[in-house]
Amino acid sequence: MKSNRRTFLKTSAASLPLAAAIQALNPATISAETIADTATSGTVPQLTPLPARLAPVESSTLPWQQNIRRVGQSNMTEHDPAVMNIEEWADYWHSASADIVFISVTGILAFYPSKVRFHRQGKFLNGRDFFGECVAAARKRGMRVVARMSPDLNWGDALDAHPEWAMRDANGSVLFSDEDPRLFCTCMFTSYMDDYVPAIMREINSLYDVDCFYTNGWPPIGSLPDCHCAICSKLPPSNTTAYWRAFNDRVLELWHKYDAIAKEKKPDSFYFANLGGNVRCGPNLARLGKTAAWFQADNQGRTSENPAVWGCSLQGRVCSALMEGKFAANVSAAYSTGTVRWRNASKNPAEARMWLNETLASGMALYYHFIGSEAGFGEDRRWQKLGSDYFQWAKKHDAHLKPRRSLANIGVIMGQSTQLLYPPPAAAHADDYMRETTHGIYAALLDGRFAFDFVHEDRLDLERIGKYRALLLPNIAMLSDRQCQQIRDYVRSGGSIMASFETSLYDENLQRRQEFALADLLGISKAGDVIGTNGNAYYARIERSHPILDGFSNTNWLPGAQNRVPVRSVPDPVLTVVPGFVQYPPELAYPPASHTDEPAVVLREVASSRVAYFPGDIERTFWLTGHGDLLRLLHNTIRWITHYEAVVHVDGDGFVELLCWETTPGYAIHLLNYTNPNAHHGWLSTVYPLGPQTVSMTLPSGVKVKAVDLLRSERTIPFRLEGSLLRFTIPAVDDYEIAAVTVG
Ligand SMILES: [Zn+2]
Repeated sequence: MKSNRRTFLKTSAASLPLAAAIQALNPATISAETIADTATSGTVPQLTPLPARLAPVESSTLPWQQNIRRVGQSNMTEHDPAVMNIEEWADYWHSASADIVFISVTGILAFYPSKVRFHRQGKFLNGRDFFGECVAAARKRGMRVVARMSPDLNWGDALDAHPEWAMRDANGSVLFSDEDPRLFCTCMFTSYMDDYVPAIMREINSLYDVDCFYTNGWPPIGSLPDCHCAICSKLPPSNTTAYWRAFNDRVLELWHKYDAIAKEKKPDSFYFANLGGNVRCGPNLARLGKTAAWFQADNQGRTSENPAVWGCSLQGRVCSALMEGKFAANVSAAYSTGTVRWRNASKNPAEARMWLNETLASGMALYYHFIGSEAGFGEDRRWQKLGSDYFQWAKKHDAHLKPRRSLANIGVIMGQSTQLLYPPPAAAHADDYMRETTHGIYAALLDGRFAFDFVHEDRLDLERIGKYRALLLPNIAMLSDRQCQQIRDYVRSGGSIMASFETSLYDENLQRRQEFALADLLGISKAGDVIGTNGNAYYARIERSHPILDGFSNTNWLPGAQNRVPVRSVPDPVLTVVPGFVQYPPELAYPPASHTDEPAVVLREVASSRVAYFPGDIERTFWLTGHGDLLRLLHNTIRWITHYEAVVHVDGDGFVELLCWETTPGYAIHLLNYTNPNAHHGWLSTVYPLGPQTVSMTLPSGVKVKAVDLLRSERTIPFRLEGSLLRFTIPAVDDYEIAAVTVG
């Protein structure tokens, strides 16, 4: 193990001058061979060979939706029948190479002469079959059609006839739309969903030729409903594990029901609904992932509450964990998203492009979305060229851009139930706490250029997780006994883990345990309740040298975290807790106890497994503070538990997100360049290009390389294949680059 570490350190040291050497060359003028020679003169990193390649699959044998690569949507408004030019609309999406378009049926306003009671026709429809005309225009151009519905709101006449359809607050009052109180909120547990929605679906199937059905606005994403209607009053209270189960059962019941109705006309049709919210989705994603034929990630863009630029690829990693090769698309807003929003104005082009970049890099299909088509085809038309240029570029490279499987060697457990239901330490706001935890580990992994996947807590069977060298558990508080046993089995089979804070302190029903369920595995024992910060947060005292402390010198203390669970002393600790103390007045800013035997990290090695536990909420504290010591500690620990192994090593400057896929033609290494003052807030307004990036990977034995192509800059670059070790240098990266390796 020590030799691994030495190899890695030697490699790191050698690779720094390498990047600098290439940087010194001007990539625009030097020959590609010079770059390759420079690149291949460095020391080889500690690379794990990639697994044997998957057997080929003929794409024509897949369900049709799995060959969709580009989705277009002009989200239709009540006014569009009066102002939209259907030919112009259809021509745009066709010229952009959209494979499929969304056309509004709705449920709030009918876009065709519906006979379903309460399916009110829009005031500009005038008896016209706007939906039918749009379907015909799309079909004429060879585009498929999604029939789009919205079951979440309806009007007063429906409420008068069916008061039982409404969501109600704790006083029994009907809940109305915040923005237009003429619309009431419908309850998903009522006959509105059992009768009204199926009636519209059957009417559409009887009148039109559509490929599939979709509901917007349901199920809720990011939070659970809180309804007190007659039916819901008999359910467990919202935001409890028992309610979550009832909610999930109802979502699945309706999903299956609607799917069966979709198939009444065409067996290859299907139903799908709005999802998203990444790790904090409403419905249980492990269950839905088995059912859904199409994951619609309603993840339009950044907001001030969720400000990180990687929001879209975070969603893509979630989809990849759940869909396991089935179709997922990310709905990218071409309009301005956020708390203050302009749904009919284009957003910054650099930001819009980055969201599309992230969609592709994280393995989803492109989906471009704008609201309304005022004045023919848009008062604001700036989004149109950007979208069609992007779609047309992507079409040229479809084969390389469609992933088959991830090459990542690290799995991050999502903890969906913890994300939704866990009560964080008293001072922290529940929704934000776990979001901050997720962004903390995500940012640390990006900064270290680790290749990682998300793993759902309900999918911890060894055949799925055995491929990972390590699993990370960033405060995965809620874990069942069975899930804990699966993690134990994983470690027993040679896997490593890093866990933090309250991981395994709650069961799947949110019952708090007396002791960590993973106490045996983590080598810890709980010594008290969570201790927060009042003044100075706690410190971690360095007790002895260890690889997780590489790079720290000239200090006895490191920052700890904002909150910690005190655990009992362990033999030969590496870091111990210096408890927090007053930060003001400075006269009192010194530790009453400067030395304790309470561990600030617990490390174990059993055979080839390595286990690290931080009693503090270190990932979230890193997100709150950006403290470089916490980042170094996380990086060192992840490297130590993974034995310094990498699957793909990309050396160079810049803050990038790395995603690596096996594809049908070979491999695709995606680099998203987030080096930008607006990576953590606001929208990108321009691109800060990066210099050379040297890629190293060990191919399965016997695999030969035909070519390495850069898909964004559309050039072929030289490579060096020595034995199974493939190395090449990407001379520069603008906002995004994909190195596509074709094997043969
Ligand atoms: Zn209800």
